[in-house]
Amino acid sequence: MARTLLSAKRRTGSDPDSDTTVRATWDATLPPMPAPESLEPGLYLVATPIGNLEDITLRAIRVLKECDLIACEDTRQTKKLLNQYEIEKPTISYHEHNEASRAAELVEKLAAGVRIAVVSDAGMPGISDPGFRLLSLAIERGISVVPIPGPAAFVSALVASGLPVEPLTFRGFLPPKSGARRRTLEKIRDSKQTEIFYEAPHRITGTLEDAVAVLGMGRRVVVARELTKIHEEFLRGTAVEVLEVLKGRAEIKGEIVLLIGPASEEETRPATASLRDRVEQLMRDEKVDEKAALKRVSKERGISKSEAYRELQRGGSGHV
Ligand code: SAM
Repeated sequence: MARTLLSAKRRTGSDPDSDTTVRATWDATLPPMPAPESLEPGLYLVATPIGNLEDITLRAIRVLKECDLIACEDTRQTKKLLNQYEIEKPTISYHEHNEASRAAELVEKLAAGVRIAVVSDAGMPGISDPGFRLLSLAIERGISVVPIPGPAAFVSALVASGLPVEPLTFRGFLPPKSGARRRTLEKIRDSKQTEIFYEAPHRITGTLEDAVAVLGMGRRVVVARELTKIHEEFLRGTAVEVLEVLKGRAEIKGEIVLLIGPASEEETRPATASLRDRVEQLMRDEKVDEKAALKRVSKERGISKSEAYRELQRGGSGHV
């Protein structure tokens, strides 16, 4: 069915001075592909969909059709995409377990003029996915490297999150164990920028519990789940609010991006507030007892618990 796309003003041939409104129409089919060009030799880093198969660019399809070889994280996964777009090209596996040896092999092919496209299972190769080693070798050898842009989960999550988009740090996956994860979160406690992580669904509640403990209940977070897919969802709120929502579910499925907003002025103020004031603030705002508040303050100020306790006994009006 033809749909009205836009209305535009243009001058007609019969009356060069008259402005006539014309309505352009288009078929609800793909626009014609650009004329085939011969792909230059080089390494092509091709973004693929992160869920919705429509999220692939015309250029990505053309590069996949015109290259000589497609290096895939998982050849079976990529075959589904290639079938969808009727792309018939040889594939070769290139994943985290054979990355070193395969990169050395592939760079020799590139040096011989073979045009290689690298794809991962989803999104941009090299973003928490294989690609970097081959890319580094290609750069060393003076081989042309061409990004073919498209989806990356953290960018889609960020732009729709409602958190400040600049500045930001993308930190990849959080450590799976709570101890290491808390140490990572400590580093961003006073961060003034949006911090972005990839997280697994079976770990998200544990991670949010750690976030509440380290960053406080009030830190703004967004959980972006199943982006571009049927069950796409954004949970926006404070760390404790989002945690409560997820804890209320029998099961948490799907792929997740966790975004942590910048620390507010209030959250970073404790460095200059008196120790007693800060302890009382935590007890009041976060409903924790004095012991827990003191533990938190000692961490915040990089002093031992006993030192914090002594300071509190002294009156705690001084700045530690
Ligand atoms: N290369 C990919 C990219 O450009 O985003 C990332 C690959 S990494 C191995 C996979 C992780 O990315 C998932 O565990 C999840 O954290 C995130 N991710 C990928 N697709 C997603 C989606 N549709 N929705 C939310 N997160 C996604």
